Amino acid sequence: MPKFRTPVAILAALALLASPSVPAVERSQVPERLTWNLADLFKTQDAWDAALKDVQRRIPRLAALKGTLASSADQLKRALDLWMEVSKDAARVGVYASMLADQDTRDTKAAAMKQRAEQMQVDLGSATAWIRPELIGLGADRIRGSLAAEAGLAPYRPLLDDVIRRAPHTLSAEDEALLASMGSVSDTGQSVYGTFTGAEMPFPEVKVSTGETVRVDQAAFTKWRAEPNRADRQVVYKAFFSRYHDFRRTLAATLAGQVQAHDAARKARKFESSLQSALFNDNVPVEIYRQLLDDVHANLPTLHRYLKLRQRLMGVDKLSYEDLYAPIVPKVDLRFTPEEAQAITLEAFEPLGPEYVAALKKGYAERWVDFLPSTGKRQGAYSNGAYGVHPFQLLNYNGRYEDLSTLAHESGHSMHTYLSDSAQPYVTHDYPIFVAEVASTLNENLLFHHMLKSVGDDDTRLFLLGSYLDNLRHTLFRQTLFAEFELAIHQRVEKGEPLTGDDLNTLYLGLVRKYYGHDAGVCQVDDVYAVEWAYIPHFYYDFYVYQYATSVVAAVSLANGILTEPQGTTASRDAYLTMLKSGSSDYAVPLLEKAGVNMRTSAPFQAAMAEMNRIMDDMDRLLAKRKG
Ligand SMILES: [Zn+2]
Repeated sequence: MPKFRTPVAILAALALLASPSVPAVERSQVPERLTWNLADLFKTQDAWDAALKDVQRRIPRLAALKGTLASSADQLKRALDLWMEVSKDAARVGVYASMLADQDTRDTKAAAMKQRAEQMQVDLGSATAWIRPELIGLGADRIRGSLAAEAGLAPYRPLLDDVIRRAPHTLSAEDEALLASMGSVSDTGQSVYGTFTGAEMPFPEVKVSTGETVRVDQAAFTKWRAEPNRADRQVVYKAFFSRYHDFRRTLAATLAGQVQAHDAARKARKFESSLQSALFNDNVPVEIYRQLLDDVHANLPTLHRYLKLRQRLMGVDKLSYEDLYAPIVPKVDLRFTPEEAQAITLEAFEPLGPEYVAALKKGYAERWVDFLPSTGKRQGAYSNGAYGVHPFQLLNYNGRYEDLSTLAHESGHSMHTYLSDSAQPYVTHDYPIFVAEVASTLNENLLFHHMLKSVGDDDTRLFLLGSYLDNLRHTLFRQTLFAEFELAIHQRVEKGEPLTGDDLNTLYLGLVRKYYGHDAGVCQVDDVYAVEWAYIPHFYYDFYVYQYATSVVAAVSLANGILTEPQGTTASRDAYLTMLKSGSSDYAVPLLEKAGVNMRTSAPFQAAMAEMNRIMDDMDRLLAKRKG
């Protein structure tokens, strides 16, 4: 790997960008090689315009096919082919406009293009809304007959099988239309919550140790919760959550409204529970959800070991809830130029084989990635793709270890897209969410192991080990706690029980205290944090967060298999790459099983816990050495 050496000029530029008080550079000043090449999608904006018009021209042809699917297997194939072709072209038009707008959110021309593309997508959705109900109307026998009669339908088998699977939970056309018309109403809880906490909630102001007065909104809270000064953290935490507590009744009403909407929809669709209804979409068995909760409960001692280690490293008498985001070891300021980050990730991914590394290397060279922040550029990071072109990544790369890790993460998504797109027809190119975060997290894991091998000094090792443990605490334990809370509130509504602010506080505090070992003296959780549920937007997403935990479990387990593969064999790696090439040609759980992790068992979770304990053993050794 390259040394952690950075040319002075670039380091200065990166440091400048890292400080939010200094305006970022204009996009025109960013070197071209560090920008993505949107010309690979459309050479000119005129070409984009022509493509948009071409899609719009074909949309009515899709609407006109209504009622023809039953006429013959051949007609069915022609209709599905046209649907996929238009969808593929529409997606390319949409991806271009949205990425152009993300480059500079002040660009009104790009914003207008994005709006036109969105309207086109809405039109396409309306013109094709009849397809799934009509397919269901064909019935399982007829669909299977068509699949047998027309070989050209083979790529559509997963789609058609899924239609058959959904039939028992699909209503009559009239009832479906009624449910769809209720769709916007059912999200009122979420939209009121978003508006209130995003724009209108009066956040408190506190005075911190520097004498500065800080307004503690969500962004300030995430900054201050990681501050080394404990007194400041405590002041900020207390003020922030006390304010949520003031509004707990309103915020309970918005959350209860959302949960009741989930409950009404699952009843209408004849599901036994909201959990079953939510997991049905990706065909994930509810046992996997329960398995995760059981596994986490059984392994709380491992979390407690981590918390005690954190207490020891922070040198506090008693760990409290305000300490969980503070740095546990003096921060080692690792810096990497974008070129170094590319080289390091390519080396770190070598266990995935030469084909994988060569494709990503080519992707970096051909400008898949938009690296640097610039004025007006969208925050955060993502990977996006256009079928038949290649993936793209938006980053706001600032040269820190977190940024390197983000590149590894997003490159995991990009390569998943690249491999699936290369191997699959359009209809099955898109992979399920349940596996998506496995591909990204696995690459973070490979980066971590690569860095550990490459660094010599103990401080850097401690920093890497500590960051990795923090990440497991957060994605594995905290997200599962959320998943358990989410399940409990849905079960209460299913039983017809109310959800008041005080009910939610009691429930949440009980869970947090259990997870963090409050009664056992592991971590003090004060009463005021009972309201933390009101701060978490994910509870509105309908059983989403558990996938953060299952992804990290699967990724650690798969990475383990790949890294410990006996010399001379590549079976684990090959099985994993096959999954990356599978898109949505199968469901998530069988895809993972073929890749080498059976999420129906505790084995992958045990592998993750073994890794977490190994890391803590390493840290113990390093700390003992330091003392001695
Ligand atoms: Zn991701």
